Amino acid sequence: MDFTGRVLAWYQRHGRHDLPWQVPDPYLRWLAEIMLQQTTVTAARPYFERFRARFPTLETLAQAPLDDVLALWSGLGYYARARNLHASARLVMDRHQGRFPQTLPELLALPGIGLSTAGAILAFAFGIPASILDANVRRVLSRYHGITDRDAKATRRLWEHARAYTPTHDVADYTQAIMDLGALVCRKAPQCSICPLVSACSFKGEEPPPARRARPERSVVMALIYQANAGLLLLRRPASGVWGGLWSLPECPTLPDLTPYLASLGFEAAPGAPGAVLRHVFTHFALSITPVPVLLTNIGTCASENRDMMWYQRCAAEPGMPAPVRRLVNQFLETT
Ligand code: SF4
Repeated sequence: MDFTGRVLAWYQRHGRHDLPWQVPDPYLRWLAEIMLQQTTVTAARPYFERFRARFPTLETLAQAPLDDVLALWSGLGYYARARNLHASARLVMDRHQGRFPQTLPELLALPGIGLSTAGAILAFAFGIPASILDANVRRVLSRYHGITDRDAKATRRLWEHARAYTPTHDVADYTQAIMDLGALVCRKAPQCSICPLVSACSFKGEEPPPARRARPERSVVMALIYQANAGLLLLRRPASGVWGGLWSLPECPTLPDLTPYLASLGFEAAPGAPGAVLRHVFTHFALSITPVPVLLTNIGTCASENRDMMWYQRCAAEPGMPAPVRRLVNQFLETT
């Protein structure tokens, strides 16, 4: 039996057949594929269920305000995915009359969809033979073929193998199968004794250690500006960037910057004592956040709500906030 046949036979007995997105609905398959970028099945599943309940169709997602989408995505990270999801839903409604496109060029023209995600959508939603090379598949093929480099040439070779193994029939099953094999068997610590590919695999039990990148450290001061009758001040972040479009706390680089920063916002209040530093690790850097309470007696007229500023109270619907900010906000409001 060849590579593809072995993987398909293994899948029938050991693969995953009951994932909530294993349904013949291009919209839900696309939603799942975007969530599964850089996220495990376990982490993505509850978010998928919440999105499906709140936005059951492409149209409902396209019509929703971006704020609602970001709020529901809050905690899943990589928020550009949520912004792209929302933008793509609107584009599909406008350009394709609400029908999900079925060609590679059309899919690649949508924000947030790369070659592997497009391949997965074509295979899963439409049964069109198209290949994927996500992290799990990459690990299986690299080990099977003994490809240890991680450069562009190695990636081209892996794509060639991925395309060669993709069948013209049962493509949805094969795509799920090769993903599952990477996620369940050919894991970081591979379980070669139960792998259907073991007899021909080049893996020798050793791999070059992943190149360690020093993760830059950044720090920021976040102000918890609070007034009992109004709530906690939140500002909307600029549309681009790691937390683009989310609601966050007002921030400045260092503690000495805080008083002039508050004055620039129109507040004369003195900052309180800094709280415990909260460290949040991103893929490319680590952020240390120093929270500082700023209790106001009167917000005056300088800080009325607008599109990019709100006074948040606990009873209000929670806006989309980055996970560490939400933690600081909830901790603060619980003790204030
Ligand atoms: S034999 Fe081991 S290393 Fe090779 S594909 Fe299977 S699990 Fe991965």
